[in-house]
Amino acid sequence: MKNNLSITIKTMVYKMKLKQLLLLSSVLITQPLTVLAASDLTLVWQQDNNKVEDVQWLNSSRMMPSADRLVIYKGKGLQLEDKQGRNISLMSGDFSDIDHRDINNGLLVAILDDDRQQAFISSFNYHIKAWSERHYLPVTDYKIEAVCLYQDKSKHAFLFLIGEDGQAEQWLVADASQALSQAKLIRQLSTPPQSQYCQVDDAQSLLFINEENVGIWAYDAHAEADLTRQIVGLTKPFGHIGKSAMGMHRVPGGLLVLDADDNKLHIYLNNQGQWLHNSALSLTGLSEPDKLTVKLNNEQLEILIRHDDGMSMFTLAWPYKEPVHQAAIVEVEPQVETKPVTSLGDAADDPAIWVNLAKPQHSRVLGTDKQSGLVVYDLSGKQLQHLAVGRLNNVDIRTDFNLNGRQLDIAVASNRDNNSLHIFGIHTNTGVVSELAEIGTAMEDIYGLCMFKNNSGDIYAIANDKNGQFFQYLITGTKGQVKASLVRQFHVDSQPEGCVADDVNNRLFIGEEDQAVWTLDARPEIKAKLEKVISVGNNIHSDIEGISLYNKGRESYLIISSQGNNSYVVLNALPPFTYRGAFQIGFNTTLGIDGVSETDGLDVTSVNLGPLWQDGMLVVQDGRNRMPADNQNFKYVPWSDIADQLELN
Ligand code: CA
Ligand code: CA
Ligand code: CA
Ligand code: CA
Ligand code: CA
Repeated sequence: MKNNLSITIKTMVYKMKLKQLLLLSSVLITQPLTVLAASDLTLVWQQDNNKVEDVQWLNSSRMMPSADRLVIYKGKGLQLEDKQGRNISLMSGDFSDIDHRDINNGLLVAILDDDRQQAFISSFNYHIKAWSERHYLPVTDYKIEAVCLYQDKSKHAFLFLIGEDGQAEQWLVADASQALSQAKLIRQLSTPPQSQYCQVDDAQSLLFINEENVGIWAYDAHAEADLTRQIVGLTKPFGHIGKSAMGMHRVPGGLLVLDADDNKLHIYLNNQGQWLHNSALSLTGLSEPDKLTVKLNNEQLEILIRHDDGMSMFTLAWPYKEPVHQAAIVEVEPQVETKPVTSLGDAADDPAIWVNLAKPQHSRVLGTDKQSGLVVYDLSGKQLQHLAVGRLNNVDIRTDFNLNGRQLDIAVASNRDNNSLHIFGIHTNTGVVSELAEIGTAMEDIYGLCMFKNNSGDIYAIANDKNGQFFQYLITGTKGQVKASLVRQFHVDSQPEGCVADDVNNRLFIGEEDQAVWTLDARPEIKAKLEKVISVGNNIHSDIEGISLYNKGRESYLIISSQGNNSYVVLNALPPFTYRGAFQIGFNTTLGIDGVSETDGLDVTSVNLGPLWQDGMLVVQDGRNRMPADNQNFKYVPWSDIADQLELN
């Protein structure tokens, strides 16, 4: 090893004035008045050892300051090393690729075992200074080329396995403190062929994968994300990479990419989601550099590159900062998920909770399948009924409907097959749901729906048309017939959907999907006058979807699905509708239930439905049912967890 050998590598970079950089990149915050220069890339040391397979700086080793890096040596194993390259601990084996993250008390590592052609997870405990047992993932039917870890904001660790022909998988492998004894498959992905390298930027939730002759792609790494990708940089003649895009490493504000054949280090910066090529630094003297690890130390990158002859460590002045992130939204976990709906694609939509007052633990969740009808679940998520009545969009429930002198609870759903109100009876003791009537409307494209009961017990259904028109109907059941009489009309300017009525306060809340939540008097005899409750903006990201009301004593909250950022906003349901916070629904690793994203409808009750639900329950539609991937379903969350996280009451 040649220590402190300081060689300046002469390279060409694009000279840029600070002003231009500021225009180019939103990630620049307070930058020194210098430009990124070739002379800043300085060789500090190199170690000749052609057995080096992979190397990683430790993200942080506060608990064990002597630990500096992880190195895989061909045919020998994985070595945890100090700054001088001395062995602290060796794990023997024939390994070729590694990634790691910090967990409580130590390091979590994902390793590709060449002998077994399988990936495994292990951890190094800093207290007892030993490796844990290996947890192997199942054998794959493709050759694994690379492994990379992703740690989300709840410190759940996910492993991506990248295959040689465009197959990839994402597995849940660890929680904040330990590897799971059995990894759980989250989803399968199709990725580019000719990929051998990957890397995840946890803060941005981006999975980078190379496609050797094409360039570097960025995928959304979040377990709930759709399979979408963006190009970071292309090979010539479409981009700047000379021959082959190989290993990459995230840096504050950007990405470093190696071109093994052209012997260059490419620098990409991210400007508000757009990737821009900044410079290409020659790595003269290195042979086939293909993997790198990077850490930031006093505005200087320390770059350790693996190449055919060993490892070389460079420093590079780095004026770019991490982009500013909004404060993370708190998370709660689902405790129950329902059986998936039978329809493929975007199908589950809007739930409504029916409370069994005599036996609350026998309450029911009614959920629409917007391609097939109404599904009834119990509190364990088991499906009890499926009424194949057509394309129901939204559903709501009110109690004590008078049908010819008989009291029963009713659900009303908007049926898009016939632009009708579909009315169901719910047996007060058993919760069994049955069709009562289907009543046509004047709407051209019926969409959202909610219900209102006034102080005298009159029950209304308020439905909306995609064109923004609302139609309020009085639902009656006298003279042997269920009838709906139009009693009021009002409108918003663009597409609405979710709505909810506060029966106690005669208040109606309606959502205009990409604009705002509005409120008006729910009583039809009062002229409709809309007042704004909250606009799409920092807290609510369009679409505004499901809206529901939590009412318990003096506590009254409005819960709104902020679909655009996979979260839920809580407001006081009384003027001035103070914002109380937002939450997301993450993974429940213990029960193996995936988190929730892209929620359409939701419903909440404050009634004690049993031990898990003492302060009530929130039910939400999940746009992406994972672990394993399946048709959409609904998730149940205890209200007490939401109240704790948001410090309500
Ligand atoms: Ca949807
Ligand atoms: Ca509803
Ligand atoms: Ca919608
Ligand atoms: Ca999900
Ligand atoms: Ca699931």
